Amino acid sequence: MQLEKLENWRRTHYSDQIDLETLEGKEITVCGWVKQTRDLGGLKFVILRDNFGEIQITFPKAKLEEHLFDKANSLKNEMPIAVKGKVKEDKRSPTGFELIPNDLKILNSVLANLPLDSTGKVKADLDTRLDNRILDLRSSISHAIFIIRHRVTTAMRQFFVEHRFIEINTPRIIATATEGGTELFPIAYFEKEAFLAQSPQLYKEQLTTVFDKVYEIAPIFRAEEHSTTRHLNELMMVDIEMAFANYNDVMNVLEELIHFVISDVKNNCEEELNTLKSEIKIPELPFPKYTYTETLDLLGKNDYELTWGDDIGTDASRKLGSIIDGPYFITEWPSEGKPFYIQPRVDKPEISESFDLMYSWIELASGGTRVHKKETLIQRLINQGLTPSSFDFHLKVFDWGMPPHAGWGLGLARLIMVLTGRQNIREVVIFPRDRTRLTP
Ligand code: ATP
Ligand code: MG
Repeated sequence: MQLEKLENWRRTHYSDQIDLETLEGKEITVCGWVKQTRDLGGLKFVILRDNFGEIQITFPKAKLEEHLFDKANSLKNEMPIAVKGKVKEDKRSPTGFELIPNDLKILNSVLANLPLDSTGKVKADLDTRLDNRILDLRSSISHAIFIIRHRVTTAMRQFFVEHRFIEINTPRIIATATEGGTELFPIAYFEKEAFLAQSPQLYKEQLTTVFDKVYEIAPIFRAEEHSTTRHLNELMMVDIEMAFANYNDVMNVLEELIHFVISDVKNNCEEELNTLKSEIKIPELPFPKYTYTETLDLLGKNDYELTWGDDIGTDASRKLGSIIDGPYFITEWPSEGKPFYIQPRVDKPEISESFDLMYSWIELASGGTRVHKKETLIQRLINQGLTPSSFDFHLKVFDWGMPPHAGWGLGLARLIMVLTGRQNIREVVIFPRDRTRLTP
């Protein structure tokens, strides 16, 4: 097949920009991929897909030059094409119009047997989908997930800007573990050993001393060996840190952010949510808060016994998810299990000024008031078996005017799971990395 060059052909409209009233009878140029072809002998329908929707291109044999009609016969699913054609009203077309082509360029060939059917008619398992991710992303389900994800990060940035947060980026290559070494990926860094960042924690705390309120949306890496439907080894973390604030202040920011993001997605991604059959509701503010102790009581009343001090594991979380709907906070966790930088309550040091944001049974975020006194921080490092001297780069900042501060980290993919109603985190990450998956 003779392939054509793009030359000076450029898209004039995306599929969602074709307004029948102004464009009826006019020639436009559209570019995209062949989603589907249907042959009725003297009539051929080609559905062209671009990033914003679909356009029906109708080839009536009787009205077209022969070579153009013949060319339409060589179209195959997923071929990239450009079409110049006239917009024509057609009530039978799903969009209310069709394009009658004047000219068509086939810009590349495609494999005869593609490994995945992106129309979704032939079902594929998740591994096959991930192995052929680019084709999978063209399916309406996966595409909708990532349009929503795009909306979420855009809304988050808008929210942070409006609330006067400064966007930061902290190093991904670090010399010291943030919270002890077990979940770190070591890397060879010239003649030294270094690690991939597992959290921006220490840097974001330091930066509150300059910028007051900071946020970062960036990947982090965790060498967690388990394989679950909500853990990956590379994940996008949304982090904030605020000066002159405690855990209640940052919980307020978090619930407002979640409310803002869900409302924004509900208002702007109706089509995508429908495609995904997502039943997400805009949550009411404020979100319910249960202290850790109250949570244990609640579990106890529902025949799930935990001893004070125990972590609330997957089974217990599932139980909670069956009792409480939507988002809620679990606050004031035992200090014992918390990282060294979390502030214990002054009146009851066994309890910490900390919280998790849950959605049904899934943990979305963790945060708290941070220790801002150097001596306390050193003591807590020692208590947790860490070596204060390897945190010198961090500790010295505490002598330079460290304000009281608080923050949280939110797993972006977990929030997307909730929004899109997906059960496996791998579905909501473009190229997920887990224990066994390093490609594509
Ligand atoms: P979990 O208990 O679910 O393993 P965590 O308490 O170890 O999470 P944090 O250190 O509190 O995780 O990280 C903050 C947030 O980052 C979590 O609330 C979660 O949303 C997300 N997160 C943490 N680890 C992972 C992971 N391996 N994969 C995906 N998201 C994660
Ligand atoms: Mg946590």
